[in-house]
Amino acid sequence: MDLDLSQYFIVEEKPVFNLSIKLVIPSGCGMKCPFCFNLLNKNTAVYDKEAFLNNFIDSLNHIIDTAGPKRSISLDITGNEPTHDIGLFIATMQKINTIKHRFNKIVLTTNGENLSKFDVLKHVGDVVDFVNLSVHHYNESERCKAFGVQPIDSLFYGHIIDVLHSYNIKVTAVAVLYKELNTTFVAFVRNFAIWAKKFRFDNIRIRSNFYKKDDFFTRYMNDTTFGNEIIRAEGLNTKYLDVDGMEVILLQGVTSLIGHVVGVEAVVDDDGKPYIDYGKCYPFNSKYIEHVYVLKK
Ligand code: SF4
Repeated sequence: MDLDLSQYFIVEEKPVFNLSIKLVIPSGCGMKCPFCFNLLNKNTAVYDKEAFLNNFIDSLNHIIDTAGPKRSISLDITGNEPTHDIGLFIATMQKINTIKHRFNKIVLTTNGENLSKFDVLKHVGDVVDFVNLSVHHYNESERCKAFGVQPIDSLFYGHIIDVLHSYNIKVTAVAVLYKELNTTFVAFVRNFAIWAKKFRFDNIRIRSNFYKKDDFFTRYMNDTTFGNEIIRAEGLNTKYLDVDGMEVILLQGVTSLIGHVVGVEAVVDDDGKPYIDYGKCYPFNSKYIEHVYVLKK
């Protein structure tokens, strides 16, 4: 993401009430998704796992302490693929477990590749409230194209989800629409909902590849009529649907929170240090972490 904050005035600084902290585990990934956001970070990515393990808890505590009391703080555990290096993942989860009371919500975003190995699911169950499981498509051959390698099959998703449910963890099926569909958007969403219900997902989130200009996703969002399946629409950006009892969230998404004041993100990046961006350009060091920006003329 090329974001030059020097091009912006900060017109307002104020404390925030919803703080989302992303934790980037430097684990690598075995998949080859053509839309992978980590491709954007390849010039700044480091894989110093020891530094990450040594630093990240202090960084999380620093952000939380800086944000002050009366905050709703969520932790979004991500990566690369956070479970790809199983030893690193388990060591990370054990450390998070010691401070999990400081978070209102802890989410793990994963492609699921190693969830069933060793006792990974137990460590997930100890720490996590929600799992975002990247599946990208209900059709297995389309899923294979999205991941660039042979991914998990549908039956196996069902098995993982049953175990996660036994820990009271809710599971979202996540799909990035990175290319035009060969069916209508309505048919895609409805087929996805039927598939997700069969394999016991709790809901679905379908989003654009928002690091690229995906005009087709905007077109799908603008031109598609879902009738009484729409529960709520937040402008053209987000729609909530009930498709045959399955909650579906359609999300255009944004690449930057500049101009958006709903929640604020901090990032503990792959070096275990705190930032306000993925590219490690802007260290986290401010008491007032919600900034309202205006582009300089
Ligand atoms: S699974 Fe995630 S981290 Fe791995 S290549 Fe795909 S998008 Fe990137």
